[in-house]
Amino acid sequence: ISSTPIVFESRGLHKHFGALHATNDVSIQLYAGEIHGLIGPNGAGKSTLIHQLAGTLRPDQGELFLNGKNITHLKAHERVAAGLARSFQVTNIFDHYTVLENLLLAVQAATGSSLRFWRARDSETELLDKAKQLAMECAIDRHLWSAQARHLPHGEQRKLEFALSLAASPSVMLLDEPMAGMGPDESLRLTELIESMRGKAAMLLVEHDMQAVFRLADRISVLVAGKIIASGTPDEIRHNQDVKNAYLGD
Ligand code: ADP
Ligand code: MG
Repeated sequence: ISSTPIVFESRGLHKHFGALHATNDVSIQLYAGEIHGLIGPNGAGKSTLIHQLAGTLRPDQGELFLNGKNITHLKAHERVAAGLARSFQVTNIFDHYTVLENLLLAVQAATGSSLRFWRARDSETELLDKAKQLAMECAIDRHLWSAQARHLPHGEQRKLEFALSLAASPSVMLLDEPMAGMGPDESLRLTELIESMRGKAAMLLVEHDMQAVFRLADRISVLVAGKIIASGTPDEIRHNQDVKNAYLGD
């Protein structure tokens, strides 16, 4: 894995909320295509970190690099355009549009600037094909493709959110607790979906469901009280004494 390029990196991120040091010198590296788990107790600063990576919260200090480019000063939507997608907990779904219409809009937005080089009819067919392909890849029930998004079962909505954030072919995806509020069956299906997308983008996966994280992650980082206390393979993390003491128990 050491020869795999780093696609996304934070260096020394700090965020204070008054007296609280919510992220304390967080440096994290994502390799191309890896699934990187981020775990830690409630209030450790995981969501605060995700917000800083996505650009919805300004760090007090620190820098971010995406594909070698310094993106520290890019706004959230500019980071999306640069290949950094965020899924779940921020929903991009238009409730009154159908599944395919939602996907079509996302695909269109992603390819916007090249549209004018195509003839209208060809581009429509091509975009629709891409939308259908995403729906298929994300295993959205085919008989729901023409249903309005607001009528989808919860699990199918999650798949649609995932498909929407894939539309721009991001190199990095940030996933903050995708399994939250799901039953065991839905969780398992989403785990399988994320597994099937392995390699398409590097994913930073924040998740409380330890079974899912340890099954999916190539590497895991552990955040406790704003600090990364360990990074390594699932096996290394499972047997790390600091991690056991601070978080996983035993
Ligand atoms: P996690 O996602 O790991 O559960 P959070 O990042 O949500 O943790 O929160 C980390 C700490 O920062 C918590 O103590 C939380 O109360 C605090 N916090 C988060 N956001 C804010 C905010 N906007 N203002 C003040 N404190 C915040
Ligand atoms: Mg959180």
